[in-house]
Amino acid sequence: MKIAFLRPNLGGQRSNDAIEPLGFAVLSGLTDRNKHEVLLFDERIENIPMDLEVDLVVITTFTLTAKRAYTIADNYRKKGIYVVIGGYHASLMPEEVQEYADTVFVGSAEGNWEKFLIELENGHPQKVYEEIKLPDISEVVYDRSLFKDKKYSFVVPVQFGRGCMHQCEFCTIGSVHKGDYAHRKVELVIEEIKEIFRTNKRAKVIYFVDDNIFANKKKALHLFNELKKLKIKWACQGSIDIAKDEDLVKLMSESGCIEMLLGFENINIMNIKKMNKKSNYDFDYENIIRIFKKHRILVHASYVIGYDYDTKDYFQEILDFSNKHKFFLAGFNPALPIPGTPFYDRLKNEGRLLYDKWWLDDDFRYGKAAYTPHNMTVEEFEAGILRCKVEYNTHKNIWLRLFDGAANFRHALIFLAVNYINRKEIYNKKGIKL
Ligand code: SF4
Repeated sequence: MKIAFLRPNLGGQRSNDAIEPLGFAVLSGLTDRNKHEVLLFDERIENIPMDLEVDLVVITTFTLTAKRAYTIADNYRKKGIYVVIGGYHASLMPEEVQEYADTVFVGSAEGNWEKFLIELENGHPQKVYEEIKLPDISEVVYDRSLFKDKKYSFVVPVQFGRGCMHQCEFCTIGSVHKGDYAHRKVELVIEEIKEIFRTNKRAKVIYFVDDNIFANKKKALHLFNELKKLKIKWACQGSIDIAKDEDLVKLMSESGCIEMLLGFENINIMNIKKMNKKSNYDFDYENIIRIFKKHRILVHASYVIGYDYDTKDYFQEILDFSNKHKFFLAGFNPALPIPGTPFYDRLKNEGRLLYDKWWLDDDFRYGKAAYTPHNMTVEEFEAGILRCKVEYNTHKNIWLRLFDGAANFRHALIFLAVNYINRKEIYNKKGIKL
C-alpha cells in the first residue's frame, strides 16, 4: 500500500518553529517497508496536497488542529481514499472523530497499527483501535528516514519516555495517560542521538519531548549519565519539583542540558491548588529559579493564565515576575478548556463555556477566550494575554533579557535565534482561524 502521513497545522498556515513529528516516526518504524511505501507531508513546513494518489491517509490531530484535520479528511474520503485519524484529540474525543474518519486510533499505536494494516488489507478494518494503557515502549525504534530532506528546525526531538505521574486539571497528558508513564531503553536513545548527529547536518540541539523528563527519577539519572559522555547540547520539559534535588540539576547541566521548560503555570497558590498541580504545591519559585540559573540552564517559563483567582491586575504581576527573572522564554498561555480534560468538564458544568465546540466554531480565533473568567471580563482576558506576549518580546526587552549574567548570555546565539523565531510566531498566529 501507499500510505500518506499528514500533519495539519493551525488554519493551514506555515510555522517557523516546526520540529519533526515523532508520532509518524513511530508508525513508520512499525510499518513493513518492504510491503508498504510511506510519505510524509507536514503543513507547518509545506503544503499538504489534496490530490495524492495513495491507498491510505493517516492524519494526526490536536484539538487546535482538529478542524483543519477534518477538512483534509473530508477531501480524501470524498475521493474514496481510506482515512485514519489519531493523536491526542482522537484519544480524547473518539466519538466526534469517528464522524470524520473511517478508523480512529485511541491512545498508543504500538501493536494496533500492525494489526490494522493486516485487517485493512484483508478488507475487515475496525472502526476504532484502542490502547489506553501505555504499552511497553522499551524497544520501540523511531524511523527518522521520513524526515530526510525536510526543512525542520535545528532543534531535533527525541523521545525517552511518554506520560507523567501527575494529573493536572487542564492537561491532556494527564487525561490520556491517567498518571501512567513508560520509557525506552537508555541505550536505544543514546544510539539514536549518535545517529542523528551523524546523518542530520541541521541538528544542533536535542529536545526531549517527554511530557515530564523526571517521570522516573532513576531512569532520568541513568540517561543524564550517558548523555554526559556524548558532549552534546540538549533541552527538555518537566515539572518543577525536581529542583528540590540540586545535585540532579547539576548533573543535567554537566551532561549538556542548556534549556528546560518549567511548568510554573501560575504565581498564585490558590490557582495552583485549583489546577491540582501537585508538583508545585511547595511553591518556592524563587529558589527553583536560583538553582537553574546557578547551573546555567536557560529557563523557559510556562504559564496557564485565566484561572479563577486571576484578576485583570494579574497580567502586570506575571509580566513583572517574568522580567525580574529574565526568563529565556515565557509562554503566556490562556487557559484553554481542552475537551476530555477535567477543566473542560468543570467549566461546562458551571455553564461558563462560550462556544458549544470552540475548536470547530467558525467564530473562534487563536488567542480568543473559550470561557468566561471569574474575575475579569472576556475582553480583559484576551487583551491581557496579548499584551504579555507582545511586551515580553519587544526588541528592547529581548536584548535586556539577554544580559542576565547567567544562562542567557552564555548561550547568546541560541537565545537570540529562538527568541526571534518565537516573536515571529506570536504575530503569525495572532487571531488566525482554526
Ligand atoms: S505535570 Fe505537566 S505533563 Fe504532568 S500532568 Fe501536570 S501539566 Fe501535564
